[in-house]
Amino acid sequence: MSGSVPIDRSTTWPYEDGEPGVFSYARFSSPTVAEAERALGELDGGEALLFASGAAASAAVVLALLSPGQTVALAEGAYYGTGVLFAELERWGVRHVEFDQTGPPPVEADLVWIEAPSNPFLTMPDFEAATALSAPVVCDSTAATPLHVKPLERGCDVALHSATKGLAGHDDALVGALVVGDPDTAARLREFRSRTGPIAAPDVAWLLLRGLQTLEVRVARQTESANAIAEQLRAHPAVAIVRHPGFGPLMSFDVTDADAARRVETSTRLIANKTSLGGVTSRLEARSRWEGERVPAGLLRLSVGLEDPQELWDDLAQALAG
Ligand SMILES: *Cc1c(COP(=O)(O)O)cnc(C)c1O
Repeated sequence: MSGSVPIDRSTTWPYEDGEPGVFSYARFSSPTVAEAERALGELDGGEALLFASGAAASAAVVLALLSPGQTVALAEGAYYGTGVLFAELERWGVRHVEFDQTGPPPVEADLVWIEAPSNPFLTMPDFEAATALSAPVVCDSTAATPLHVKPLERGCDVALHSATKGLAGHDDALVGALVVGDPDTAARLREFRSRTGPIAAPDVAWLLLRGLQTLEVRVARQTESANAIAEQLRAHPAVAIVRHPGFGPLMSFDVTDADAARRVETSTRLIANKTSLGGVTSRLEARSRWEGERVPAGLLRLSVGLEDPQELWDDLAQALAG
């Protein structure tokens, strides 16, 4: 991978012989954004487009590819914010129905939306079943990163990332991405982004590029530590169920009730009590504060960072004992 590239914060570039060149106005594209798109596209096996956030990328897919009266089939237990976004878009005539992504999507779907793995239930989709219909398939592979799941290789049409999470990796860049195989679909999404304006900023693209340079070592370390911690949690008497797909930093586990969850999340010292995932530092939170009764009251979501895994376990063990 390349070394450090300059940040070009220009919003305009001179025409060449009276005609717009590759870069003309920053709402369409800009050099630092284009360089980050090249790097991510290479990693995920398609054409990448950066957005101001993962949610902006999700909204763009629905608004650019669907019309009023059409239906999205959304994996149940997928990222809470995605369901909330789709509820918001219902006013514009786009419906959504939920389905169990470990089986086939409903046949009436005009767009199938799966998550690999789902956040915070950590189920994996049945890729074969999801891609068997003629409807296009979006796979949110935020928690996996391209190191563990490449949706386009699995037959999906669009890979979606909240690059805010593991790809940028340091909790200092809000950024989303779509990676697309079909050039016409990519062109349509690019046109939609240019017209509506949710492109990522150059500084954020630069932070993403820097994050990508260490992605492989970060994810390998997080996977190793998360596997060890999941195993220790499974053997712990205060823990009812542990969900982890065997790769990546994200897992969830249940303690008896909301009070127990509150006690554990506020008792850790090394592990921060905050949201998000895929960062270099570990964090833990009860998801019911955001998702209400959609999740068990005692469900705690843990994202494992790069700290010493023994120190992480000692911290969790003392919090679970408290
Ligand atoms: C965080 C997240 C999103 C939304 O991304 P933002 O960058 O916060 O807008 C979408 N999908 C998943 C799986 C996420 O974890």
